[in-house]
This record gives sequence, C-alpha cells and structure tokens, in this order.
Amino acid sequence: MPIFASWAVTVIRICPPETLPVKPPAKDHAGEALRRIAEAYPEATVELRFHNPLELLVATILSAQCTDRRVNQITKTLFLDYPDAAAYATANLKELEEAVRPSGFFRQKAKNIKACCTDIIDRHDGAVPSGMKELTSLAGVGRKTASVLLAVAFETPAIAVDTHCRRVSQRLGLTIEDSPEKVELDLQELYSEELWVDITRLFIWHGRYTCKSRRPLCQECVLPDICPWYLDMIA
Ligand code: SF4
Repeated sequence: MPIFASWAVTVIRICPPETLPVKPPAKDHAGEALRRIAEAYPEATVELRFHNPLELLVATILSAQCTDRRVNQITKTLFLDYPDAAAYATANLKELEEAVRPSGFFRQKAKNIKACCTDIIDRHDGAVPSGMKELTSLAGVGRKTASVLLAVAFETPAIAVDTHCRRVSQRLGLTIEDSPEKVELDLQELYSEELWVDITRLFIWHGRYTCKSRRPLCQECVLPDICPWYLDMIA
C-alpha cells in the first residue's frame, strides 16, 4: 500500500511550557511532516546490511553506541563465521567477543547475542520469532530491537524509537515524552498503523542526516515552517 494512502492523523498533545513552540502542532502538521520527509528522502532505508531476521537481530544488537557503517564492516565476516542461531548459541564466548570487539561494549553484546540465540534454539526451533512478546522475551532483546525486527524484517506495524526518531519527534512537537516507549505510544496514536514502518526508517534517516543532535541543518530541512522547535528558535 502506498505510504500516503491514508493520513489517519490525530494530534493529542500540546508541548509543555519548557519546550513550547510558537504554535502548538496542528493536526495536519504530523501528516504533512511525514509526507515531506518521505519526499525528501526517497532513498531512505535501513542501513544495516542483513539477509534474514537473525542477521538483522545480531546487527541491531551490535549497533548500540556504534555506527551502522562499522557494524556492516563487522558483520561482513561475522555472518560467514556464524551462519545461524546454533552457531552463536554454541560459540566460544571469548572468540565471539573478539569478533564483535570493534562495535564497543563487546563483552555485553557478545553475551547478549549468545544468550538470545540460545533462547531462539531452545524455544523457537532456531527461527527468530515474529511477535513483540516473543521477541522481547529473548535474553538481551529490548523493545527497540524488537520493533526494528518487526518493522524491517517482518514488515509488521511497529515503530522503532531510537535516539534519532525520538529527537525528531520531540522537535516536531509530536511528543513531549522522553522515554522511547512513551514516544512510541504517542507516535502510534498520531499515525495510522500502515505508516508505522515508514516512520521508523524516515524519522531515523531525517534525524541522522538533517535534524542532527548538536547542529540540526534547519536551512536544508524541508520542515522549518511547520517545525515548532525551529520556529521557537528564531522567534
Ligand atoms: S527545521 Fe531544524 S529542528 Fe526542525 S525538523 Fe528540520 S532540522 Fe530538525
């Protein structure tokens, strides 16, 4: 279904005083913002390389505090050395740690990969489950990682709120929340379900390349006239 088949958008929140925009976000702005972002980045996609849900799961775990580019460098050989969940589950932990060391926090990441793959073998016959409940019940898999799996690998409605998605949502006045779980809930209420997968890739892309954390490129952005954060800044 085309991304803009339906704009069932309902704005339910107004920004709090400390982040109060010049104008509170109007109902149409949430839909208009997503439409413009989609037009601006027709190439926006998930930059982690993977061929199946397990590879995406491992890559997503490695991507915490690490760039996608570096993760892709690591997984180029990692996926050859560890072709399935059983390979990770039975891996020598020290060897796995060395293999993922360049991603940072390598001990915890290796431990999580091994533990969640053990769960996948023990409870799901070696296949990555495709439900939120089952995914988040895997050792070391949180809601964000599970949402990435659902949205990207299984194309099931889900919004993965990472640091980029959260920042973009806050600056656009789509949420006043800070925790990813609450931001996710606000976005789910704002946008109809068929848009959730697109929000994940588009908001992350926009946050990564334009609405950057320290120096957002507002002059290059397609949203300044409807961006409360920008309007507030120039007021
Ligand atoms: S105008 Fe600036 S702050 Fe607003 S969404 Fe664009 S880059 Fe981000």
